Amino acid sequence: VLRADHLVKNVLQARLAANLEARGLAADKDKEDEKTKKKKKVKTAAVQLPDETVKEYESILARLDNYSGPELGQLCKTHDIRNPDTGNQVGEPQQFNLMFASSIGPTGQHPGFLRPETAQGHFLNFSRLLEFNNGRVPFASAQIGKSFRNEISPRAGLLRVREFTMGEIEHYVDPESKGHVRFPDIRHIVLPLLDRSVQLSGSVQVTQMSIGEAVDRGMVANETLGYFLARIYLFLLKIGIDPRRLRFRQHMANEMAHYATDCWDAEIENSSGWIECVGCADRAAYDLSVHSARTGHPLVVRQALKEPIVTEREVPEFNKKVLGKTLGRDAGLVQRVVGEMSQEELVRLKGELSQGSTTIPADEKQIVLTPELLTIERRTFKQSIREFTPNVIEPSFGFGRILYSLLEHSFWCREQDVERGVLSLPPLVAPTKVLIVPLSAKEEFDPLIEEVSTKLRRGGIFSRVDDSNTSIGKRYARNDELGTPFGVTLDFASLQNRTMTLRERDTTDQLIGSIDDVIAVVTDLVQGALTWEDACTRLQVYDGVQAVE
Ligand code: AMP
Repeated sequence: VLRADHLVKNVLQARLAANLEARGLAADKDKEDEKTKKKKKVKTAAVQLPDETVKEYESILARLDNYSGPELGQLCKTHDIRNPDTGNQVGEPQQFNLMFASSIGPTGQHPGFLRPETAQGHFLNFSRLLEFNNGRVPFASAQIGKSFRNEISPRAGLLRVREFTMGEIEHYVDPESKGHVRFPDIRHIVLPLLDRSVQLSGSVQVTQMSIGEAVDRGMVANETLGYFLARIYLFLLKIGIDPRRLRFRQHMANEMAHYATDCWDAEIENSSGWIECVGCADRAAYDLSVHSARTGHPLVVRQALKEPIVTEREVPEFNKKVLGKTLGRDAGLVQRVVGEMSQEELVRLKGELSQGSTTIPADEKQIVLTPELLTIERRTFKQSIREFTPNVIEPSFGFGRILYSLLEHSFWCREQDVERGVLSLPPLVAPTKVLIVPLSAKEEFDPLIEEVSTKLRRGGIFSRVDDSNTSIGKRYARNDELGTPFGVTLDFASLQNRTMTLRERDTTDQLIGSIDDVIAVVTDLVQGALTWEDACTRLQVYDGVQAVE
């Protein structure tokens, strides 16, 4: 079984690559990873394609997410797309439920499903959440947890798995005002946007546009959605995602969930291509309305109106005793028919009753009504509460995909030695913030090591001691690969002068100062209050020479 959209994508991409090879424009093959070549399995001989075919393939690929199942089936026929493993033709695409079915309870008679997203748990708690927020919107709930999807072909490490960790925010807003109070703070932020119309035209050209302009133009549906897109962008940059390999792609009409108003994916480019890592959708009132309809429990916000709304309506009133006696079994029927009448019909009926009597049609009968049976009066109604179902804006993070992309974006090798890898994780996300390296394993270093690690711990900085027997260069190199951003070294000068050196992972530059000064600087560096350039003004450059008696 193959996933139809992936089949079309892989085969067309392989044909385009083979075309480049035939034209002598292929990427340097030696540089290609042998492993990924084997995995792709799409073997395509170098065949030159006519220019118009290349254009057509590129256009199909840009619009790939917009094709329905039958359309994908048609593409396979039109372009003779076959199973790459066997060369056989493929059958018609079929719908497939991504939810894992299970059964609940000792008898196993109650069907259940593993959740494919955390969202529904939030909605089940909506009433309580609303109460916590004093019955007002906007407010948001957030949850991190496992979700399960019966993916057809799980692969590529953490990118497509059947059990994964998600983080979802459900932000509840008034459908009539989807503005966001903090939008002015982020409206200047420029995002790489790939909107629906560009994709439909067969292109994947990204536009750099401020989120303020995108919302003003109506490209992004509303301020709250725009606010979260900007915050997702800032979050991804902060943890170390390369902004040149990040884009926001708008869902096309067919791709979007039927209930959504607008949806954008933060896609990150890695060795598997552009991968959706965060989805951000305006789910409108769909979820709350469906839960409410199913349970009969209203999931609404009741808002006191500043100005009550005053309306007048014609209201029918039956004299039930007389009605029953006069009409017998038709009494209920008449009440229903009159109850369903529009205001215009009631006005007409009222006029006719004032003349004496009238007849109304009910279930193919003509029933006579008199003022003894029915009166219609004009009444005034005052509405001081507005009731509405909030809309939900939902950013949805897949942590495995983000982490995997981050590792790829952060890893590089030193120019002078490809064996020396560096993982440039920002201090914010690096598991160990500071490496403590004693130059010697002699016991006299122990009190200093203890002092430095205690002081760092008290400052909230997680450190590790590497007192292994290997050379200091090897210890640095090993921790560069683990992503530890800073190293402090205790040497014989430290014992005598209470000095310590500080090394930065990416530049390998070193500074020196008193133990307490270095601890203060590294604490600020880890907390993001100081850049390395600023640190260089607070401590002296270390040239590797120290006076020791
Ligand atoms: P969706 O609800 O389909 O928009 O998914 C929300 C997020 O969950 C996506 O942006 C991905 O980061 C992540 N995700 C979805 N499916 C998988 C999967 N099979 N494996 C890993 N992450 C996934």
